[in-house]
Amino acid sequence: MKLIFEKSRPGRRAADLPASDVPPVDLNDAIGEKYLRGDLEMPEVAEIDLVRHFTNLSRRNFGVDLGFYPLGSCTMKYNPKVNEDAAALPGFAGLHPAASESFAQGNLELMFSMQRLLSHIFGMAEFTLQPAAGAHGELTGVMMIKKYFESRGEKRGIILIPDTAHGTNPASGALCGFETVTLRSNAEGGVDLEHLESLMSANVAALMLTNPNTLGLFERGIEKVAALVHGKGGLLYGDGANANAFLGKVRPGDLGFDIIQLNLHKTFSTPHGGGGPGSGPVGVCAKLADYLPVPRIAKKGEVYSWSDNYPQSIGRVRSFYGNFAVVVKAYAYIRSLGAEGLRRATEMAVLNANYIKEKLKPHFDLPYDRVCMHECVFSGSRQAAQNGVHTTDIAKRLIDFGFHPPTVYFPLIVEQAMMIEPTETESKETLDAFCDAMIAIALEASQNPQLVKDAPFSTPVARLDEVLAARRPDVTWKKQ
Ligand SMILES: *Cc1c(COP(=O)(O)O)cnc(C)c1O
Repeated sequence: MKLIFEKSRPGRRAADLPASDVPPVDLNDAIGEKYLRGDLEMPEVAEIDLVRHFTNLSRRNFGVDLGFYPLGSCTMKYNPKVNEDAAALPGFAGLHPAASESFAQGNLELMFSMQRLLSHIFGMAEFTLQPAAGAHGELTGVMMIKKYFESRGEKRGIILIPDTAHGTNPASGALCGFETVTLRSNAEGGVDLEHLESLMSANVAALMLTNPNTLGLFERGIEKVAALVHGKGGLLYGDGANANAFLGKVRPGDLGFDIIQLNLHKTFSTPHGGGGPGSGPVGVCAKLADYLPVPRIAKKGEVYSWSDNYPQSIGRVRSFYGNFAVVVKAYAYIRSLGAEGLRRATEMAVLNANYIKEKLKPHFDLPYDRVCMHECVFSGSRQAAQNGVHTTDIAKRLIDFGFHPPTVYFPLIVEQAMMIEPTETESKETLDAFCDAMIAIALEASQNPQLVKDAPFSTPVARLDEVLAARRPDVTWKKQ
């Protein structure tokens, strides 16, 4: 496919503007050379070329509006379009972020209500909506943990992280200057309590725990985990990326979590992928509330205002007030489902994952064979050992069947991992079609392994050097 620059012809236009009726000004004189680069290429195309170019590009991509997207840990549920309508309302989309409080009362009310809703759903005392993604929420949370112990005059240098954790957990700890120590999982995929007990000391600031964890398994010993951490004065941090597994069923605050980050773009139905925008609110128990980022929203009578008057706060973590439009979409989603709808979403998400787990169990290794939550983790070890077909090959072959592959090679403790998260929004027919494809690929792997290793056949490009693409992206274009 040609670049839009290659389709460019001098003078061609997508829109005709009327002739200017004001005297021309040389912008280079007015604002200086640095704003107007003479060497900056601009494509010149007609409207039809423009529409076709981007429509064709979009058809080379894959999204949840095109097909099943069981990318584990990412919760690629369908995003109802009414959420977009809500976020596009002129009062939300058109308000300038620097507008005064008196012009922003409705927006402030929405944010305030959202904080109260999230506090209620997750059993926390307070929430901030500032962080722009899950990882950013983690960073915010760990900054608060650090400040909490500093203000108490306690020197704690360690954060414990289970070996199943998402890579952003140790990264967040390290960014704040903590040493991160790996906590082992036990044979049934939960926290090894003896190992935790041996690691807990007055030097441990927090345990960062994902529950259900990235194996899709609920932490059976969660109360004991909380008691062990709290017993040594530590804090229990919850990575809430997997919240789709327990909405309306259990509240992290009630389980003993002191602080938790959410991923609104995952759990609460906002289009995501490709880098954003997202929203990673952080909820805290009462004793951590003073450390939340500022400004915070205050409500006096019926009037909302911003307040910076929290001397213990970690300060600002984001310009303005976070990704407001994402918050509006998540709010619309929560309000349209209601308490019963959220609970039902979780029940269906868990049912769907278990359905897939049971259907695929005879065909792929299942290292942790117990009832799962919203996702299940298989291993491609059998296919790798018997046929030399690896999880990458299975993932690539799935594309030919019209499905987005599951998350692969994560969590790290499962060899040849395939982490499948169907979400609640998929029908039984879709789940069956996906399972049929997986079973067909398992058969191909044993009968014609080379076919699977050469896949995909249906895409514009097949196997790319993903490392090179990430490390040395080539985004240059030279005019011929
Ligand atoms: C997605 C995810 C994160 C990071 O969230 P982002 O919004 O992508 O920054 C952290 N932990 C887990 C378990 C996740 O699945």
